[in-house]
Order: sequence, then C-alpha cells, then structure tokens
Amino acid sequence: MLVVAEKEIGGLMTPEAAFDAIEQVFAAMASDKAYNFPVVREAIGHEDALYGFKGGFDGAALTLGLKAGGYWPNNQKHGLINHQSTIFLFDADTGRVAAAVGGNLLTALRTAAASAVSIKHLAPKGAKVLGMIGAGHQSAFQMRAAARIHRFDKVIGWNPHPEMLSRLADTAAELDLPFEAVDLPRLGAEADVIISITSAFSPMLLDAQVTGPTHIAAMGTDTKGKQELDPALVARARLFTDEIAQSVSIGEFQHAIAAGLIAEEAITQIGAVVNGTHPGRDGAEVTIFDGTGVGLQDLAVAAKVVELAERKGLAQKVEI
Ligand code: NAD
Repeated sequence: MLVVAEKEIGGLMTPEAAFDAIEQVFAAMASDKAYNFPVVREAIGHEDALYGFKGGFDGAALTLGLKAGGYWPNNQKHGLINHQSTIFLFDADTGRVAAAVGGNLLTALRTAAASAVSIKHLAPKGAKVLGMIGAGHQSAFQMRAAARIHRFDKVIGWNPHPEMLSRLADTAAELDLPFEAVDLPRLGAEADVIISITSAFSPMLLDAQVTGPTHIAAMGTDTKGKQELDPALVARARLFTDEIAQSVSIGEFQHAIAAGLIAEEAITQIGAVVNGTHPGRDGAEVTIFDGTGVGLQDLAVAAKVVELAERKGLAQKVEI
C-alpha cells in the first residue's frame, strides 16, 4: 500500500485540485454513481473523544474507502490539534488496502472546496461582497477558496468571539482584499455571499437581517443540535446540500425539517446543479447550501493526493 504523510499534503494538494475533485464527486453523487455509507460517530468514553468513520464508494472514479478519526479535546497536552483523521483507500476491484493518507489538512481543503463549488454555481450575478461568520481554523481556508472561485471586492466579517477576528483580517490581507468587522445586521444587508463556519448551537443569522439577493454557504453544522441560521430564513430560501440524508439529520436543515417549516423534497443535491439537471438559483432571492461534509469528499481529495504523491515520488510503499 502507499502512505502519504500529513506533512506532505501541504506541498502536494492545491485548492484548485481540491475544487475539481469535489465538484466531480458532487456530480457523481447526483447521477447516482457515488454514494456515502452511514456515518458512525461515537463518544468512546476516553479522553472525552468523539471517534467515527465516514466512507463511501464512487463508482465513476472507482474510489472506495473511509475517513477514520474525530475530535480529541485534550490534544494540546500532546502538542497536537484536536481534530485528527486518516483516510484509507481500497482497491475497488480486489478489496486490498491501497493507501493511507493524512486527513487533517485535506478535511479543511475539501470543506472549503464544497462551499466554493456552491458559490460558483449559486452566487447572485455581480456578487461583490463576501461576508464571513466565524473566525476559527476553517474560516481562513473558506475565505481563500471563495476568493479563488469568485472575484470579490471586499470581505466583511463577524464572529461571536471578536478577539478571533484578526484571522479574517490577516487572510483578507493575504488575498489583497479590504476587510471590515461589522455587526450581523450589516453583514446580512451588505454581503452578497455569506459563509458561516462556527460551532454554534443556536441561530446567529436572522431572517430579517438578510436582504437582497444572497447566497449562504452554511458550513458549520455537521452534528445533531448544531445550528447557525434562523429556520425562518431557511424556510424562505431555495435549498441545496451535499447529501440530503445528512442535511436533514445532522446538517443545518435538520431544524427547519423538525419544525415542519420545510419538506425534504424542497432540498436539492448541489451535484444536480453541477450536472445541469437543476437550474440552481433561477431567480430565487436567497439560496442556501448546507455543507454537511460527506465521506466521498474525503475520498476524492485523498485519491488526488495519492496520484500527485506517486508522480512526485512522495508516496511511501509499505507491504501489508
Ligand atoms: P474552531 O474551534 O477553530 O473555531 C470555532 C468557531 O466557532 C469560531 O468562530 C468560534 O468563535 C465559534 N464558536 C465556538 N463556540 C461557539 C458557540 N458556542 N456559539 C457560536 N459560535 C461558537 O473550529 P473550526 O475548525 O474553524 O470549525 C468550525 C466549525 O466547522 C465546527 O463546528 C466544525 O465541526 C465544523 N466543520 C464542518 C465541516 C463540514 O464539512 N461541514 C468540516 C470541518 C469542520
């Protein structure tokens, strides 16, 4: 099998390659050529850790495998980040393990690529202002991927912990974009595209705050109980997601579904827009992409990394 170490990923994987891999796998999902396996997520009763697996099979690309890992809140004492994951790929023809790939940086790149795919296909025409809600580790990746796919004139941002806003200011400076910290009413009124990427458990962005044609990529909610958006905002928007089963159970739309404000049939897989079988925004005032994070995204970027690592001689061969 091939091993690609976490420390090699930064030099191998580009946001461009991640974007292409994610756009392709979303398209394959909507064509029923690729599917995700049920997610396993367990509190293991040790070190307060949450551990689990996300896997799937892409029959178009013949990518089979899983991402194993989770969240260890006490990792600082080991000098490690709290999110830890590894992606395993298997030969779809024989079942033999094919590769083990460090999954930490890839998770950030594939998550940012997902919202960028939604921005490419759903942003209102002439969108100029990017609004960021959230200033944690993922937010910088999100801003970079959005700025790569769409030419914004300005970034505005809000975070529940204002002391973290310097990350948004620094990332915007790196992208040569002006940045302004604003309150949520201004953010909702001025931003044409909004990315939310927080660990919130109650709505932050309210329905009345969002005015004019807007696309929202809601990326933070990936667990039962988490929530970033007002369900009334969800109820009046045109709705898209990576995978409907995850969206209604662990994604942002779980709350509007539970409240009976929307029906599952109102949600479209983003891959259908990529494939051209759904018209996308098509005159809607507000579109929302619920990015829940699916296993197939992890497999898609890992397969790309293995290909790049082999080409550059950076994949270690191990007998198993
Ligand atoms: P982080 O810990 O670096 O930052 C957390 C962010 O959430 C900060 O903006 C912080 O101010 C905010 N926050 C923390 N507690 C909050 C609370 N109680 N209410 C409101 N906001 C709060 O985390 P990160 O790595 O940037 O990840 C952000 C979120 O994205 C997490 O919830 C994570 O699970 C999620 N995530 C989603 C995907 C996906 O595919 N959808 C992938 C990776 C991470």
